[in-house]
Amino acid sequence: ASKSATHDFLIKLLLIGDSGVGKSSLLLRFSDDSFSPSFISTVGIDFKLRSIRLGDSMIKLQVWDTAGQERFRTITSSYYRGAMGIMIVYSATDADSFNNVRHWIRNIKEHAAEGVCKILIGNKCDLKEKKVVEASRGQALADEYDMQFYETSAKADINVEDAFFALTEQVLAKL
Ligand code: GDP
Repeated sequence: ASKSATHDFLIKLLLIGDSGVGKSSLLLRFSDDSFSPSFISTVGIDFKLRSIRLGDSMIKLQVWDTAGQERFRTITSSYYRGAMGIMIVYSATDADSFNNVRHWIRNIKEHAAEGVCKILIGNKCDLKEKKVVEASRGQALADEYDMQFYETSAKADINVEDAFFALTEQVLAKL
């Protein structure tokens, strides 16, 4: 059977986490399948769109990036408004960013809609030599909050697509 090109769903996702963990890079990898070593965070993108097919549905994903707001701890309700799924990102090379995940979870609880879908991401898994947060710790933290967990690399293109798809599927399951 032929399928029309209309989108069945528009889903708003967003990225949260400490500055420098790779949020903009994950978004760029997912939306443009590219990686830029440096300039992104200074530019500050608001959101990008990508359409995906899941089963019989065409889904338009609108994925928001903080554009650096997190440096000023000014992430408030306006950023979270309408968000259906949230990627909480830390860097496997940055212990502080992992410890701050609990801060971000509290922030979400305070500002986002109740019951919003969340997924935990340990990015920069390509940097094996510099790794300070083992995947088992990420998994344990994710289990504590009943979240799925992925280690990703925006640079080496590891698990990025899978992580976005997993979050989208969670959101769809709740609709
Ligand atoms: P943001 O502040 O969370 O948006 O982080 P950026 O996307 O700006 O990334 C911060 C720095 O980490 C940049 O220099 C990126 O090139 C680098 N980076 C991001 N993701 C990865 C990754 O998966 N692996 C490696 N090796 N570097 C990354």
